[in-house]
Amino acid sequence: MNAAVIEVTKVSKSFGGVVANREVSLAVPEGRITGLIGPNGSGKTTLFNSIVGYHPIDAGSIKFQGEEISNLNVQRIARLGLVRTFQQTRIYGKMNCLENMRISIAHRNAAWRDMFADYSPTIVERAEHLLEFVGLYAKRNLVAGSLSFGQQKLLEFAMALMNEPKVLLLDEPTAGINPTLINGLIDRLQRANSDFGITMFIVEHNMRVIMNMAEHIYCLAHGELLAEGPPATIQNDKRVIDAYLGAH
Ligand code: ADP
Ligand code: MG
Repeated sequence: MNAAVIEVTKVSKSFGGVVANREVSLAVPEGRITGLIGPNGSGKTTLFNSIVGYHPIDAGSIKFQGEEISNLNVQRIARLGLVRTFQQTRIYGKMNCLENMRISIAHRNAAWRDMFADYSPTIVERAEHLLEFVGLYAKRNLVAGSLSFGQQKLLEFAMALMNEPKVLLLDEPTAGINPTLINGLIDRLQRANSDFGITMFIVEHNMRVIMNMAEHIYCLAHGELLAEGPPATIQNDKRVIDAYLGAH
């Protein structure tokens, strides 16, 4: 297995009395696509939030490229090349696609100075190139709110790529997307991995999608790591099947 680019060791996180993650340990190998599954409420989003510095953890360690990052904030971590997308899309509906792409860079840099830098030709060029990559170039001047939900997800994905991530954490990228568009999105995700070399860690409810994409899958249940292994193993793991059945 490739070297771990993210190493999570015994991470715990509670909200009031609710234990969202309990001593979770896992590793995301560089250059690969790794999956994270588990029933609703099992702590997947919480773990993603902890990794990208959205909130502090209660205990444990999170390393990115061998360096401890659990004490850093979101901006610092994003600048290291660790970027996430959200379960709910975070686009600006009244801005056009190109403007959204520029803003996605501005968010990374707190200073106003850097916001102005977003108008530079190289940034616009990169934005256009990435919009083309996700198939939205023809819609670059349309307000993002006029796009279909699936297209908004593609825009959000392109916005994440603007930050030139080394690692992308994707929280349910296909949720709510029309099945006919899902294959297009999967294709783009796989190409971002193979062509740009971006390591991916993906939370996904669609079992067909995650079983096809991920090389290695971790499964959470009640905030704890329940099982891990290649898709074929996870698919037939009785504990995993029971966790999903028990959740419905
Ligand atoms: P998943 O993404 O697997 O559906 P979450 O990480 O969103 O699960 O949630 C795990 C548990 O933590 C749930 O019981 C949820 O209600 C709780 N939780 C998550 N975020 C918060 C929060 N900000 N405040 C209080 N409870 C939270
Ligand atoms: Mg979630």
